[in-house]
Amino acid sequence: MQRWQVGDYTITSVVESETPRIPPELFLPEARGERVARHAWVVPDYADARGRLTLRVQAFAIEGRGRCLLVDPCVGNAKPRVQPFWNQQSWPFLERFAEAGLAPARVDTVVHTHLHADHVGWDTRLRDGSWVPTFERARHLYTARELEWCRKSENPGNEGVYADSVAPIVDAGLADVVPEDATIGEGLRLEPTPGHTPGHVSLWVESRGETALISGDFLHHPVQCAEPQWAEVGDEDAELARVTRRRMLERAAQGGALFLGTHFATRPAGRIRRDGEVFRFEALA
Ligand SMILES: [Zn+2]
Ligand SMILES: [Zn+2]
Repeated sequence: MQRWQVGDYTITSVVESETPRIPPELFLPEARGERVARHAWVVPDYADARGRLTLRVQAFAIEGRGRCLLVDPCVGNAKPRVQPFWNQQSWPFLERFAEAGLAPARVDTVVHTHLHADHVGWDTRLRDGSWVPTFERARHLYTARELEWCRKSENPGNEGVYADSVAPIVDAGLADVVPEDATIGEGLRLEPTPGHTPGHVSLWVESRGETALISGDFLHHPVQCAEPQWAEVGDEDAELARVTRRRMLERAAQGGALFLGTHFATRPAGRIRRDGEVFRFEALA
């Protein structure tokens, strides 16, 4: 179990899946294996020697000050998805959740950096043929722009997500629309990080002089610290995503925040360090 302390808050990674040997151009069309592997610090934790990527799907639980929040609850089980690696899965996510000492009924808030299929899945589970909320006592936070974007049925690659993972939450009265810069608890603050999707946000955690940043998908892989111009295949507005990525890497490097990469594998927590004109990720041991 990977767990980090940020002042009064404990942040735990709950892993749904980790996939090695992914050809980089599948997710980062401008990347090539040899160029990835040239950044020696990404091997072996985040890529193999041929530059094939390892990517993780994980949620972060934040506990402390009487709160229990869950950020980006992954793909989920039994969801019909166009991506074969996400389609109709049966991952032991809730079992791992329990192993981490967490229980769905204890979650008071579910935070979504954005509404892609791999960030909302566990919000619902299939019971007697219908999708019902998993975190029955939690407020589920959405930004208005993101909700609007997700509701459109024509988002390629994100078909069905609103119907099976968002609408049941709205119907159950568990949804709250919050500003993109909302404060959602003591020291817990959203920051708009648009580009990957229109209403994308990241989450700052601050307590007792310590700071962490949960990225969401403004970057997908640590190699994008060194190659921040590399777009991800799902970036809706790739140019805006590039501007956001640089801005946030700069902020994280300046403040020395603990950086939690939502899709970072193996060792997802570390510090962003300046490296000339670009950056590198220094994982915690
Ligand atoms: Zn995404
Ligand atoms: Zn994602």
